[in-house]
Amino acid sequence: MKIHIADPTGLCFGVRRAISKLEEELLRSDKIYSLGSPIHNPQEIERLSKMGLIVVESAEDVPFGSIAFIRAHGVTPSEAENLRKKCMKVVDGTCPFVKTAQKRAKDLSSEGYVVVISGDREHPEVRGIMGYADGEVVVISSEGDIPENLKGRKCGILSQTTQKVASFIALVGSFITISPEIKVYNTICKATLARQDSVCRLASKVDGMLILGGRNSANTKKLAEISMDVGVSTLWIEHAGEIDRGWLRNKENIGIAAGGSTPDWLIKELIQNLNMM
Ligand code: SF4
Repeated sequence: MKIHIADPTGLCFGVRRAISKLEEELLRSDKIYSLGSPIHNPQEIERLSKMGLIVVESAEDVPFGSIAFIRAHGVTPSEAENLRKKCMKVVDGTCPFVKTAQKRAKDLSSEGYVVVISGDREHPEVRGIMGYADGEVVVISSEGDIPENLKGRKCGILSQTTQKVASFIALVGSFITISPEIKVYNTICKATLARQDSVCRLASKVDGMLILGGRNSANTKKLAEISMDVGVSTLWIEHAGEIDRGWLRNKENIGIAAGGSTPDWLIKELIQNLNMM
């Protein structure tokens, strides 16, 4: 069996940067409160929790005078303000690409556009971006879901940073037929584009694709979908212990791709396990 690794793959710039800021602070402090999970990977959270990370669900759960961490997905302006008021220190790990999307939302709404975000409204990054728009904001997950009331209006469109390129293109295309004026910012981040592209290229050359990443990771889910769209047998696993020997049978070339929130040590562990099989 030959193993092929997608290039690039694994931890993206934004998550790597956020985790290294968090680790640096954890070396100095006993406890740090993160608003939401700082990385969508349960194994990495377990490692960071042993160093003193405490994950909480809202700014209200962060004790006064403590140290808070803002993850790569960012938060709404009011959540950031709340943390700054009550905490001794706030370590901001918001990815610069997410900050750009937040700024675009703010600018578009101040220019009078209805802000349209292509993405998942339940995703924390999208909720954070929504908070930066002062006027009307609509989140659309696919081109078929455009609300009737947007017809004929000025719409400013941007995307969740991990959105699938094809979905964003389709949504923008649909707006051309219903809106007299659209302004589009492509806020899909370069790391996402490169990872989606590398999966697509590798999936077409192998007998099976192993997608490695947390089940709660949106970008890992997109990689798995892209691989399946190519038509190759695809197995999504969180860690090496989930490899299914039956799935490997009769496959000579196995591709590995890891989500942008999958740490390097999990990728190494998977390769080692495969080499021993
Ligand atoms: S996927 Fe892109 S935008 Fe999101 S954290 Fe990574 S580098 Fe930043």
